[in-house]
Amino acid sequence: MAVTLGEVVAALEARYDPALAEDWDAVGLVCGDPAEPVARVLLAVDPVATVVDEVLDTGAQLLVTHHPLLLTPVHGVPADDPKGHLVHRLVRAGAGLFVAHTNADRAAEHGVNGALAAALGLRDAVPLQPHPADPRAGLGRVGRLPEPTTLRGFADLVAAALPVTVGGVRAAGDPGRRVRTVAVCGGSGGSLVPAAAAAGADVLLTSDLRHHPASEALESSSPALCDVAHFASEWPWLPVAAELLRRDLGGRVEVTVSRRRTDPWTWLAGAGRSGSAGG
Ligand SMILES: [Zn+2]
Repeated sequence: MAVTLGEVVAALEARYDPALAEDWDAVGLVCGDPAEPVARVLLAVDPVATVVDEVLDTGAQLLVTHHPLLLTPVHGVPADDPKGHLVHRLVRAGAGLFVAHTNADRAAEHGVNGALAAALGLRDAVPLQPHPADPRAGLGRVGRLPEPTTLRGFADLVAAALPVTVGGVRAAGDPGRRVRTVAVCGGSGGSLVPAAAAAGADVLLTSDLRHHPASEALESSSPALCDVAHFASEWPWLPVAAELLRRDLGGRVEVTVSRRRTDPWTWLAGAGRSGSAGG
């Protein structure tokens, strides 16, 4: 019997409880009819035009994204608005959109942070900032590498484990610094530098790190820092969630991971130049 969109949503919400989402977040079903059948689901980090193209190309009836399309309140979704246009394209194609954002970040198992820790092979990973209601859930993860390495070795490991992006992997700290205990946070995890330090992490891997906190961390005894594209840090969740959804729906739905790289930073100038500041 065909699986309905409502059943897919129920399976996703059983794994990624909407109650775990931050108050400001906008998770759940954005568009789509819960009574309609779903044969194919596509998972992506961002609900952007190229991913909607892929939904139409592949004939998926549901797009599941990590990031919300409509995070701030709107009064309408007219087709001449960029986001409204995406809603129209999805609805016309008979496809729904479902968002699992901070509830997927904080999930105890199979969430964004657990997937990032697993992609790096971290052992005994626990939340860096446990959820007050469930200490197994929460933001970030801290765990140990199977073998100690250097900061340079760790950055190489990160580069090999995550999708390739133009910005690559940036590190702050002595390349020879010993790294064994690793803190990670998918997405913008700069606020977790103190938590990573308190957890005894040798390095914090996250994205969107800003100049001043990074500079101040380097001047103190804080962990070294590793910064990757926001997209890359959250991408490892997609194959994890896809496999889970396949299993939870008994293989009755085809679930695929988007092949589009939606990191907005797509080119770089001046790479390889050398020289001191100011010429
Ligand atoms: Zn994010």
